Amino acid sequence: MNQPAESPVLALPDMQHQWLPFTPNREFKADPQLFARAKDQFYFDPAGRPILDGGSGLFTTPAGHCRDEIAEAVHRQLQELDFTPGFLRAHPKSFELARRIAGLLPEGLDRVFFVNSGSEAVDTAMKMCLAYHRARGEAGRTIFVSRERAYHGVNFGGVALSGMVNNRRAFGGTVHGVSHMRATWQEATRFQIGQPDQGAELADDLLAAIRVHGAENIAACVVEPIAGSTGVLVPPRGYLERLRDICTAHGILLVFDEVICGFGRTGEAFAAQSFGVTPDLITMAKAITNGAVPMAAVAAARFIHDTVMDAAPEGAIEFFHGYTWSAHPVACAAALASLDLYERDGLFARARALSPVFLEAVASLRDLPLVTDIRGYGMIAGIDLASDGKPGRRGQLLQKKLCDNGLHLKTTGDCAILAPQFVFSEAHIARMTEILRSTIASLG
Ligand code: PLP
Repeated sequence: MNQPAESPVLALPDMQHQWLPFTPNREFKADPQLFARAKDQFYFDPAGRPILDGGSGLFTTPAGHCRDEIAEAVHRQLQELDFTPGFLRAHPKSFELARRIAGLLPEGLDRVFFVNSGSEAVDTAMKMCLAYHRARGEAGRTIFVSRERAYHGVNFGGVALSGMVNNRRAFGGTVHGVSHMRATWQEATRFQIGQPDQGAELADDLLAAIRVHGAENIAACVVEPIAGSTGVLVPPRGYLERLRDICTAHGILLVFDEVICGFGRTGEAFAAQSFGVTPDLITMAKAITNGAVPMAAVAAARFIHDTVMDAAPEGAIEFFHGYTWSAHPVACAAALASLDLYERDGLFARARALSPVFLEAVASLRDLPLVTDIRGYGMIAGIDLASDGKPGRRGQLLQKKLCDNGLHLKTTGDCAILAPQFVFSEAHIARMTEILRSTIASLG
């Protein structure tokens, strides 16, 4: 980055006007790490140096960067129909996309509402839960049960559900009426790759919430099947099944937030299928367009959709919710092209096939003295590093050094989160592991 300012390619932009999200702004601007270009498995910095994308962007881009098929579909769409109001008007591609997504979802979960980000998907799903219960005459069901160490985005509903104190402590009160179960991380299952054998009983925390609040006051239980952003906490065997049973027994809706897991990350289209547990709603985003255009969605079980529809008077709007950019034609075109790519190239099956190679490579790092735990499932893994005394500082340094050494991935606190693209080869996995090994070793 220390190139002469007169080079037109390498000159740094004036950065003072942009307030960056989830970034230490002052530190970043003093020593920025910019991506100028991307192709397939690599980002390139302004000097043209390749950086292997070990995070699929931000879990968004499993099919690799700048795919011609998506770029062409977006270009065609912009020339044909650039925008349609989503209220009282619609365009054919969004119906086609909803049908295609319904075809990937578990049986019965096939009514799709489009939004623009994972955060919007979460808040939309919360409203659907509340509207469903009201429509059935159970307006008292307003409490949500989620989990410690959950991440459900940054809108008010999602922040309230999330179990990350930093995301709410600067903002005072958010939405009230959320009860948090314990996270599923367990000391006894350190270094277990895949689903831990023990810990299903942690789902009984939902029973504890029922005892405290009364089932008749609880709208839904919201969980990420694998808690992704806070360090890849894989559900213990039997845990999600138990949550499902408790929800069913008590009339509580079960929501899977699959913003990270959806579209192949666990080796099936959705984690619901990988784990064999069908929730009542699924939120999805990120890989829906391979990261090319912002888009997200909520899939609701048909009975939820029909209950809300049937409760409204004939001719009335049934669900007073939606966004200007819901089902944007360009996003729909990008999503359809992405689903075509996933299907044509068998990318979910490829993720499934590559997973054992990936997980074994990650597990091989356990001998490094700074590494305190490794977890993983499908094409996502987390590596915990010992804190240097100030939580998060070592993780921050790690992701910066990794980028300098040619590997992009996200860290949360002192955990490195790996989410390779499904188009990685075994050689890319090996290279990623090598860079991780040498960089972690250099930290301590
Ligand atoms: N839910 C989960 C599980 C996520 O991982 C994320 C983002 O990482 C979100 C919601 C929020 O998505 P977005 O950043 O698109 O608003």
